[in-house]
Amino acid sequence: GRAIPPLAVLSQVLRLERSRRTAIVFPLQKLERYLAPGTDMARFRLFQPGLAALQRAEALFRSDRGHSIDYVSSAVRMDHAPPPALPEVCFIGRSNVGKSSLIRALFSLAPEVEIRVSKTPGHTKKMNFFKVGKYFTLVDMPGYGYRAPQDFVEMVEAYLQERHNLKRTFLLVDGVVGLQKTDHIAVEMLEEFGIPYVIVLTKIDRASRGLLLKNVLEIQEFVKENTQGCFPQLFLVSSVKFSGVHLLRCFVAHVTGNLPTVEAH
Ligand code: GDP
Repeated sequence: GRAIPPLAVLSQVLRLERSRRTAIVFPLQKLERYLAPGTDMARFRLFQPGLAALQRAEALFRSDRGHSIDYVSSAVRMDHAPPPALPEVCFIGRSNVGKSSLIRALFSLAPEVEIRVSKTPGHTKKMNFFKVGKYFTLVDMPGYGYRAPQDFVEMVEAYLQERHNLKRTFLLVDGVVGLQKTDHIAVEMLEEFGIPYVIVLTKIDRASRGLLLKNVLEIQEFVKENTQGCFPQLFLVSSVKFSGVHLLRCFVAHVTGNLPTVEAH
């Protein structure tokens, strides 16, 4: 297997000085001090787990004897999907948004897990299922682009509509470029299906603070005005620096019912 990057490990991050630690564990909070006075902060701190919850979530993502994390199968059609036995989350987003990098970062404590990527143009796009012990499954949905083939659209729509164990959909949006036309189409689809989802801003290490703040505020406003099913707090991640990865693990654990209590502080 691959080596585990130090910042993928919570205990290593906690050794850093406070400001860097906050930037990695709570990247959205890091932006708070740059907000105009009077800005509603509620959306910045809806999900703010304590250390115990972060540690509990990390344990789920670390494989060991008696707890294995496995790639299960790939499917091109719903009848090829594994039985919906566990709570499930899925990750969707435009091609190149950083989805495979993020899934690799989430699973970096289980380096034996092979994250398959099939992004060669024309290559069959598949849903990849990962099983995290007896706790939950995570699905890597194929990246969509403009002019997605019809069979692809049908597969994704069928999955989102029919998958009864699906607890939350993570819609990845590029933190540098913000919401694009295809992202809006994805939002409309999720809204139409009435399923709960959350927006994850990727590659935040590549955006200046000003640009990131602008994109965060714009998307927050968009979510507030135009959506019903979207969680009001955005999740910010960098798969390179592991910013937001620990918090995202914790949110996945939470929405799949694997964190009985999330302390407020
Ligand atoms: P996918 O098509 O959505 O699976 O995207 P990838 O994970 O393959 O990422 C697309 C490109 O963005 C690759 O060149 C990655 O190295 C780069 N990338 C992905 N995530 C990050 C990130 O968090 N930070 C930076 N700087 N680059 C990233």
